[in-house]
Amino acid sequence: MTERQARPKRTVHTGRVERVEQLTPHMIRVVLGGEGLAEFATDGSTDSYVKLLFPAPGPDDPEPYDLDAIRAERPRAEWPVTRTYTVRSWDPGSRELTLDFVHHGEVGLAGPWAAGAKPGDRLRFLGPGGGYAPAPEADWHLLAGDESALPAIAAALEHLPEGRPAHVFVEVENAEEEQPLTVREGVRVTWLHRDGGAPGSLLVPAVRALEFPPGDVQAFVHGEANFVRDLRRLLRIDLSLPKERLSVSGYWRLGRDEDGWQASKAEWNQSVEAEEAAALRS
Ligand SMILES: Cc1cc2nc3c(=O)[nH]c(=O)nc-3n(C[C@H](O)[C@H](O)[C@H](O)COP(=O)(O)OP(=O)(O)OC[C@H]3O[C@@H](n4cnc5c(N)ncnc54)[C@H](O)[C@@H]3O)c2cc1C
Repeated sequence: MTERQARPKRTVHTGRVERVEQLTPHMIRVVLGGEGLAEFATDGSTDSYVKLLFPAPGPDDPEPYDLDAIRAERPRAEWPVTRTYTVRSWDPGSRELTLDFVHHGEVGLAGPWAAGAKPGDRLRFLGPGGGYAPAPEADWHLLAGDESALPAIAAALEHLPEGRPAHVFVEVENAEEEQPLTVREGVRVTWLHRDGGAPGSLLVPAVRALEFPPGDVQAFVHGEANFVRDLRRLLRIDLSLPKERLSVSGYWRLGRDEDGWQASKAEWNQSVEAEEAAALRS
């Protein structure tokens, strides 16, 4: 009989808030540091993300912290609640990890946490995951998203291959939410102000109206799930772009918290893929 291999424990990193900066009225930068990041490393993906762990109501967490034990021994309602955030930047030298949070009102966990964060606060997280970076061999790049994708878009712009053109569309609430970005020669950034409109209401027509340059495109499209689905239709069905050239997924979904969105995401993706397969067959 073979012995069952124990699943390796997942590394939980513990960041200490070093600085908090209000980048725009609704975007808050939190810089984490400290010894608890000693094992953190990224792999060069510009969309690296971490899973923040917010304690659920219940007994205090064990010290030393053991996520596997919490999940094995406590009821689900007492497991930490996860929220996903892009690594805006990671500096292994100074051991500083920068995360940018959309403060989308007083609802939710992560946005309000960032709004109240102060130096010395502790934040635990898993990760990183991720897998996109601008491909040097692509003839041009398309990047499109809302505020939640802005940290990943900003990181990608810092790593665009020299001399490769890019069309970048970022939809934010208004002009006050714009941020300075690294814009190399050949990169065209279009800011869209939804001014109370639905997320993606300007982004979808703007990308649709783009005259696609010739050549091989790599596309990065993220943000609210409904508009991401619409843009995916455009790229996959109308323009027949190969899947391998796309990094396209919903980062959040209107009317659902992250738990609700993650729980429904597999089904959502299945229906998007089924529609796509049917359209491509016909
Ligand atoms: C891989 C990945 C990377 C991400 N990176 C970032 C990032 O760097 N910065 C960032 O801010 N977000 C990012 N997100 C999105 C973020 O995880 C979600 O917005 C998350 O739901 C926010 O958690 P919350 O606790 O603030 O709100 P929740 O408790 O999850 O949601 C509460 C309510 O707010 C709504 N809501 C959630 N997000 C938004 C939003 N952005 N605007 C308006 N309403 C919203 C929900 O629909 C819900 O009704 C990322 C998501 C993924 C999957």
